Amino acid sequence: MTGIDDLPVRDELRGKSPYGAPQLDVPVRLNTNENPYALPEPLVERIAERVREAARNLNRYPDRDAVELRTELAKYLTDTGKYAVGLENVWAANGSNEVIQQLLQTFGGPDRTAIGFEPSYSMHGLIARGTGTGWISGPRNDDFTVDLAAAERAIAEHRPDIVFITTPNNPTGNAVPPETVIALYEAAQAAKPSMVVVDEAYIEFSHGDSLLPLLEGRPHLVVSRTMSKAFGAAGLRLGYLAAHPAVVDAVQLVRLPYHLSAVTQATALAALEHTDTLLGYVEQLKAERDRLVAELRAIGYEVTESDANFVQFGRFADSHEVWQKILDRGVLVRDNGVPGWLRVSAGTPEENDAFLDAVRELKKEQNA
Ligand SMILES: *Cc1c(COP(=O)(O)O)cnc(C)c1O
Repeated sequence: MTGIDDLPVRDELRGKSPYGAPQLDVPVRLNTNENPYALPEPLVERIAERVREAARNLNRYPDRDAVELRTELAKYLTDTGKYAVGLENVWAANGSNEVIQQLLQTFGGPDRTAIGFEPSYSMHGLIARGTGTGWISGPRNDDFTVDLAAAERAIAEHRPDIVFITTPNNPTGNAVPPETVIALYEAAQAAKPSMVVVDEAYIEFSHGDSLLPLLEGRPHLVVSRTMSKAFGAAGLRLGYLAAHPAVVDAVQLVRLPYHLSAVTQATALAALEHTDTLLGYVEQLKAERDRLVAELRAIGYEVTESDANFVQFGRFADSHEVWQKILDRGVLVRDNGVPGWLRVSAGTPEENDAFLDAVRELKKEQNA
């Protein structure tokens, strides 16, 4: 039988496995940071309406520049981000993963490198590899904050072409202070100058503000966002970035023509009409996240500060064994491979109760 290794695949892909959070059929799934609330019915109706309209023109290619959608995304950012951006500052693609891929295709590639501070979002490194960009794993402190001095040293030493900063960070949940981002930006400019990509996939859940205002006077800074988490639309596949207009021009050199389908654009526009309702769910989830943090601590677990819609908890001698025991109780959480820690996404109050009951039981067993 022919396997991958019998094909002439690129050397750097040999022996690697694809990204994959287990999609198991269990009663309570709290493993991929999705929004647990289905879209509200009036929004579902509006999507159907806008998609029906779009369907009438599916014989034509979609708006290649997604002008209406980018204009609405710019309005959303301006309304919520304490910084005014316009169409020329915003670019959209199929999930922020595609945004990240386009950035790596534009600013990375063979003979170039990117750095991230790990543990962090594993797709940054995986997409780097897929685009032939060298990956450098930068350090964090034991409490998962960015070790600024070590990070500055790593940037000066490796002179990466792209610096990734995830804030709030996944899988740890903690936010990176704006002063740290500014310092890293300055280090990156002194070293190369390189692009600095701030991945704000979870910013709507944060206690703090978006770093959007840092775009002022920083043409090498990119803020990347997504509708997969706060907007409860992971199935839509819509990510976007805000940056200097020159960055928006640059990524268009690598984007596939008509990459955003007319159906995607219509659906995202419908969702943006319901921003207020969707951000209402975000408030509920933030309260549930804070409850998870408090209750996990009360049960006796260690918890990393969270500004996201998930919580990292530990510490375990064998986190995979604990993951399995929680799964045996019908609750799927995430083992991100961070030694000693697991991650749970904030679900509905009922789902969170089921999770808390499971880990409370485990703690009792452990103490018995
Ligand atoms: C979930 C997540 C994304 C979202 O990716 P999409 O392709 O937009 O679904 C991006 N960055 C981080 C850090 C994430 O956790």
